[in-house]
Amino acid sequence: MIQLQDYSIHFQDKNFALLREQLTTNAYSKIFVLVDSNTNRHCLPILQNALEGIELHIITIQAGEIHKNIETCQFIWKALMQQKADRKSVLLNLGGGVIGDMGGFCASTFKRGIDFIQIPTTLLAQVDASIGGKLGVDFELVKNSIGLFNNPQAVYLYTDFFKTLPKNELYSGYAEVVKHTLIQNKEAFLQLNQMDCIEHSDWESLVKDSLYIKKSIVEQDPFEENIRKSLNFGHTIGHAIESLSWETDAPLLHGEAVAIGMIAECYLSYKLLGLPQHELDLIGQYLKSLYAKFDLHKIHSTNIITLIQQDKKNEHQQICFTLLNKIGAFKINIHASEALILESLAYYNNL
Ligand code: NAD
Repeated sequence: MIQLQDYSIHFQDKNFALLREQLTTNAYSKIFVLVDSNTNRHCLPILQNALEGIELHIITIQAGEIHKNIETCQFIWKALMQQKADRKSVLLNLGGGVIGDMGGFCASTFKRGIDFIQIPTTLLAQVDASIGGKLGVDFELVKNSIGLFNNPQAVYLYTDFFKTLPKNELYSGYAEVVKHTLIQNKEAFLQLNQMDCIEHSDWESLVKDSLYIKKSIVEQDPFEENIRKSLNFGHTIGHAIESLSWETDAPLLHGEAVAIGMIAECYLSYKLLGLPQHELDLIGQYLKSLYAKFDLHKIHSTNIITLIQQDKKNEHQQICFTLLNKIGAFKINIHASEALILESLAYYNNL
């Protein structure tokens, strides 16, 4: 177990015994479980089996980032209302980052806030989205632009959920694992480079190592005033590309877009902070070996700039990047001109 300031992260809780104990001890009036169509099929039976004898009220939404919006929140709030949830109810978010971010947001705002517990079922959600308290939904194509900070009662990590996770979703989550090493730990990045095939990773230790990096950062800066901005590496450009890709015939998963964002932002790092050329090449080649090439010509580059200007991390109308001065070291609040951002996109396209 890892103790954060005000909640615990439990690893491989056998048969969810600790979760059962937590639910029983808290004497919740009703226990709700939020799932999407996929986690309903693949993950819910595991939880229902483990919590046999405890009454669970299931709320199912459609799967996918496209449903991470206010309309789906209204559906969830309505379901809670119709099933008479009160302030002593709890919501278990069983799914990936979409379920965790949106379920946490709905729980935090329903009747001024009810308890929620994160049970992340994707690699991405286990190493990243489920901790740190960022909750919310997308609005007007701007990722996570409506939301708040609030921590869950607990997080339960169970890597066996990955057994049913599609391969592209595993790779999507892996981008955040790579990001954590790039901002904090060169040795760990080089070790990832040595791995033949990520599908056969020792997930328990990989998840733990990656999560520790995020945990140490969010504990130092829970409200993203300084070093937590390092976790945005690759995301300023990545988020814009992710949103715009939804309008093409090749929509990208979050991590796939972040991988493109990391390559482009490494180029900015090389130009603005002197990231060594051999490190730029190493990162670019590694990410290129993991993710299929996305043709950025499918997206109008001025739309990318417009969306980057909307990024919620910007301050005083200035686009703020977190960039690397070398692998394992970063600088926050770096500004780049539009021309240089366009150059970084061309660099990705020509890689
Ligand atoms: P996701 O929740 O859409 O899950 C990916 C897909 O996998 C979905 O189709 C889902 O139904 C399916 N799935 C989930 N678990 C499964 C399982 N065990 N077996 C089979 N299928 C399964 O997406 P994600 O990649 O988990 O998360 C991406 C989201 O996380 C984005 O919205 C992103 O903005 C957010 N995010 C949030 C934070 C944060 O700090 N809050 C950090 C990073 C990313």
